[in-house]
Amino acid sequence: MKLNLNYQNVKDSYLFSTIAKKVSAYSETHPDKKVIRLGIGDVTLPLCPAVIDALHAATEEMGKQESFHGYGPEQGYDFLRDAIRTYYAGHGVTLDADEIFVSDGAKSDVGNILDLFATDNTVLVPDPVYPVYVDTNIMAGRKILYMNANAENGFLPMPDSTVDAEIIYLCSPNNPTGAVYDRQQLAAWVAYAEEKGAVILFDAAYEAFITDPALPRSIFEIKGAEDCAIEFCSFSKTAGFTGTRCGYTVVPKKLTAGGMSLNKMWLRRQTTKFNGVPYIVQRGAAAVFTPEGQRQITENIGYYRENARAIAACLDELGIWYTGGKNSPYLWLRCPNGMASWDFFDFLLERAHVVGTPGAGFGENGEGFFRLTAFGDRDATREAIERIKRVLS
Ligand code: PLP
Repeated sequence: MKLNLNYQNVKDSYLFSTIAKKVSAYSETHPDKKVIRLGIGDVTLPLCPAVIDALHAATEEMGKQESFHGYGPEQGYDFLRDAIRTYYAGHGVTLDADEIFVSDGAKSDVGNILDLFATDNTVLVPDPVYPVYVDTNIMAGRKILYMNANAENGFLPMPDSTVDAEIIYLCSPNNPTGAVYDRQQLAAWVAYAEEKGAVILFDAAYEAFITDPALPRSIFEIKGAEDCAIEFCSFSKTAGFTGTRCGYTVVPKKLTAGGMSLNKMWLRRQTTKFNGVPYIVQRGAAAVFTPEGQRQITENIGYYRENARAIAACLDELGIWYTGGKNSPYLWLRCPNGMASWDFFDFLLERAHVVGTPGAGFGENGEGFFRLTAFGDRDATREAIERIKRVLS
C-alpha cells in the first residue's frame, strides 16, 4: 500500500483549537468573567418556521407508503433546482436547472470539484484565505501561488497578467475579510481567466449578506463568466443550515475545456461518488425560497446585519481601520497600536473577555489583523461592543 504523501504537507490547523484552549484556560482561572465569543463562523439563530414546517411535512411523507422517498436524483430534486433557478433569475442570472447541483454544503463541493482538474494545474489563492482552498489542493499535490490581499488593495487582490495560473479561487463576500468585489473588479477577473484559459472557483456562500444592489451576488452577473466560472453557494449562512447541511454548485454548460464539458464531468462525478441530499433536507431548503421563507430568512439575516452594523459603528468610533461589516457578516480590523494578531487576541480576552479570531490564522497577510463575526446573540454582541470600547478608548 502506498499512501498519498501529499498529506504530509498539510499543516495541522491549530487556529480554532488554540483559541479554544486559551479561552478554557482563561475561564478556569477567571470563573467570574463571562466570556463573549465573536470568533466563530457558525450561526446562532434557529431554522425559520417555514423551514421547520417543511421538514415536518417531509418527515410525515417519509412515513407513508405512498409518499416515501428512497434514493433521489444525485444532483438534487427538481423542486429545489427550480427554486434555485428562480432565485438566480431574481438577480438577472438565467440558468438551466441542469446547471445546478444540490449538495450537502459548499465545503464538500469546493473540495470535490478538484476531481475535475489535473494535478499539474497551478492554483491561485488570496492570502488571507478560507483554509479549505489551500488544504484541498495540498492534498492533491498542486502548486499554489498566493496573491497579496492587504490594506492597500482593500483585501481585494486583482489579477496580475504576469502570473500564470489555471485554477483561481475568489470568495466574495470574503471569509475572513468581509471584503466584496464590485462588478468591474469581477469583470477584470473574468477577462484574466479567459486570457489564461483558467477556471474561477467562485465561493458565494455569503451572497445573501449583500445589501448594496450595485454589488454582484453571483459571478454569473458578469458577462462571459459562464465560459470560465463555477459558483458554490450554501444554505448554511443564508438560512441557518450549518447543522442541517445543504448547498449547491452551478456548473454552466458553456464551460468547456479541450472539448470536454465540465457540467457533464461534474454530473458524472456526482452520480458516481454521491447519492444526494436527503429528501427531507431538500424540502426544508426549498421552503427558504417560498415568500414566507424569504421573509423569515431576511429577518434573520437582518438580525446579523444589525450586529455587524453595531460592531462597525464601534470600530468607526474608535478610529480602527477595517473591511467588511457592510455587505458581510465578517469584520476584519487592523489590530490597534500595531499589535500582532495573537497579542490582540490575548489583550481582548484578558481585558474585555471577548473572543475573536487572529488574522494570522488565515495566512501571512493576516498578521496584524483580527476577525470579528456578526453571528452572535444580539445582547452578547452589544455587551462585547461596550467592553471593547471601554478597553480601547
Ligand atoms: N465557503 C466559505 C467561504 C465559508 O466560510 C464556509 C463556512 O464557513 C463554507 C464555504 C462552508 O459552507 P458549508 O456549511 O455549506 O459547507
